[in-house]
Amino acid sequence: MSIIAPKDTPVWVDECRCKACNICVSYCPAGVLAMRDDVHAVLGQMIEVVHPESCIGCTECEIHCPDFAIMVAKRDEFKFAKLTPEAKDRALAVKNNQYRKLA
Ligand code: SF4
Ligand code: SF4
Repeated sequence: MSIIAPKDTPVWVDECRCKACNICVSYCPAGVLAMRDDVHAVLGQMIEVVHPESCIGCTECEIHCPDFAIMVAKRDEFKFAKLTPEAKDRALAVKNNQYRKLA
């Protein structure tokens, strides 16, 4: 990746590459990601890292993004969270909300 990892950040996005396909949100088990409305973006939505503190570093988002738009820190560079019931519930709620940010 050409993007430099931001300091103390578990997961980050290159918004120029994101095509708002929702795939990363659908794979995230911890409710870290969601789509926000964005009038300047393709399809009117943009990926957002809503709950970075819940990221478990599973890399599912990075692996499945077809546009190389989302990156995850290396395990030796960041201390990731453990998966909690609250994070699992939030992931389900986001999916049930058409992958949009919860109000
Ligand atoms: S690394 Fe895993 S927990 Fe973190 S944002 Fe990506 S899919 Fe979600
Ligand atoms: S999978 Fe990639 S392109 Fe699709 S919404 Fe996520 S970051 Fe954007």
